[in-house]
Amino acid sequence: MRFDIITLFPELFAPFLASGVTRRAYASDQVAVRLWNPRDHADGNYRRVDDRPFGGGPGMVMMIEPLVRCLAAIRADRAALAEPVPAPVVLFSPIGEVLRHDRVARWADGPGAILLCGRYEGIDQRFIDAHVDAQISLGDFVLSGGEIAALALLDAVTRLQPGVLNDAGSHQLDSFNPALDGLLDCPHYTRPEHWQPAPDQDPVPVPEVLLSGHHAHIERWRREQSLRITAQHRPELIQNARAAGRLSAADEA
Ligand code: SAM
Repeated sequence: MRFDIITLFPELFAPFLASGVTRRAYASDQVAVRLWNPRDHADGNYRRVDDRPFGGGPGMVMMIEPLVRCLAAIRADRAALAEPVPAPVVLFSPIGEVLRHDRVARWADGPGAILLCGRYEGIDQRFIDAHVDAQISLGDFVLSGGEIAALALLDAVTRLQPGVLNDAGSHQLDSFNPALDGLLDCPHYTRPEHWQPAPDQDPVPVPEVLLSGHHAHIERWRREQSLRITAQHRPELIQNARAAGRLSAADEA
């Protein structure tokens, strides 16, 4: 799997790629990440990549030519691979489909993509019309650039790759996973067993069942908590699970 990322700020990616449980996947190229700066493909001493919008108005717009040349360089680099695979060009944009688990799972099973991070007011529409295959949004808000969205997609996809999480299969117990019937995760606790928020306050214990060692009771408790939290915060996910026949009689009790 390979992701080529077109960004005016490649330096934003280095700390992320070197941190946390996913770092080995990037270091070993299990998830290969290549960073491309359109500025390296821009003209003139100033290597200009943006210009004022036609029609006036605030801000700047990313110019077509550096992006076209950058994309051509990526395509050439990919074509030289032993086993080249076609890569869709994905633009991060508020226009796109909001990223959800089912889409992340599909990306995680795929060969990768060319990810385009917008900046300023966005990208000249003619480049989008000519070269972009899909658009992805992180949600109904505006970021300063597509880099955080690219990092979100990369991270979500990488943690689903085999062997990336220390505890294989633990992602199946995460929120939205079909193995959890698309529900939200249950609450988690660790030591100390009793936590005293302040000297004059009573200690707050861990739920007793979690200390019982009774596996079936713990599983039932976790499922009930998952159902409770989902009903409280995302009731439509309960409806979806019910409609898909994923809720048992015990769940409904
Ligand atoms: N003028 C644009 C608008 O109102 O939709 C916003 C441009 S934003 C300041 C600059 C870049 O950030 C966009 O081109 C896009 O790549 C990225 N971006 C902003 N919000 C995003 C979101 N919700 N999801 C994904 N990318 C986003």
